[in-house]
Amino acid sequence: GDTKISVLGLGAMGSALARAWLVAGYEVTVWNRTVSRAELLAAEGAKVAVTAREAVAVGDLVVVCLLDDVSVGEVLDGAELGGKDLVNVTTGVPGEARERAEWAVGRGARYLDGGIMAVPPMIGVQGSGAYVFYSGSSELFAAWGDVLAVPAAIRFVGEDPGLAALYDVALLSAMTGMFAGVSHAFALMRRTQVAPEGFAALLVEWLTGMAPYANGVAAQLETGDYTLGVTSNLAMMVEANGTLLRTAEEQGVSPELISPFMALMERRLADGHGDEGTTGVIDLLLR
Ligand code: NDP
Repeated sequence: GDTKISVLGLGAMGSALARAWLVAGYEVTVWNRTVSRAELLAAEGAKVAVTAREAVAVGDLVVVCLLDDVSVGEVLDGAELGGKDLVNVTTGVPGEARERAEWAVGRGARYLDGGIMAVPPMIGVQGSGAYVFYSGSSELFAAWGDVLAVPAAIRFVGEDPGLAALYDVALLSAMTGMFAGVSHAFALMRRTQVAPEGFAALLVEWLTGMAPYANGVAAQLETGDYTLGVTSNLAMMVEANGTLLRTAEEQGVSPELISPFMALMERRLADGHGDEGTTGVIDLLLR
């Protein structure tokens, strides 16, 4: 079509995004600090801008995918943003996204911030499960949704430009906890003859089955009744933690990945909430 998309930043992710739009037949202009990284895309039909300023100037939709917010500031410093639709899919914290939005809007642009929930090989692949959280200008999102949906599925989460980053980080944070739990579980099994592959299959089945735990937490947060639907109460779970810790001791495994959460469970129990599940821990985390 005659829609002009500019992609600034041709790392693994930016290149994958640019390629997906090229394959879909869009006119794509690319720019990268290290020029050699644009060669492959040029051979695939991308136009190569000499400067970031030029890349911004030719794009109707300007997508930036750089290392961090500092690099976004450096790259867009000399560009004319008036009337531009700027989509920033550089990972950052919510506060950076809000400041960057204010900065861009102050220069006359419409701004959308994105949090990419995928790795580069998933980009542009139908059914890969890749998607991007977007927040900021709902007008920009409405105008460009079809184009944005080409490299990955799209999820608009609100006008607050910081929300995409917050959703992104919240999901990654939950994943971090899962990584910690899986690491501890493998450590427990490490000095046995049990094959890691067989045990992994059990872990996947178990964690998949346990994932709806989040729905129970949500119901308790929504009603404010932290005992709602509790089948394993905190008093019982704290008791069970002792077994988990003594087993770690027996297997010669440090409890450092699981003990911080257990300490919070104990604090909540000590506050007199033995009939709840774990939802009260959330209140203890809020500073
Ligand atoms: P890469 O490390 O592959 O690429 C980084 C890009 O940023 C390069 O184009 C690099 O240019 C550019 N860059 C860094 N510093 C500057 C600077 N000061 N001025 C100009 N350009 C600069 O990273 P990815 O492509 O993997 O990631 C890009 C963004 O996408 C990040 O915010 C990342 O968090 C996010 N993302 C990445 C995912 C992944 O799995 N890869 C998943 C989800 C999000 P140069 O080539 O010149 O060094």
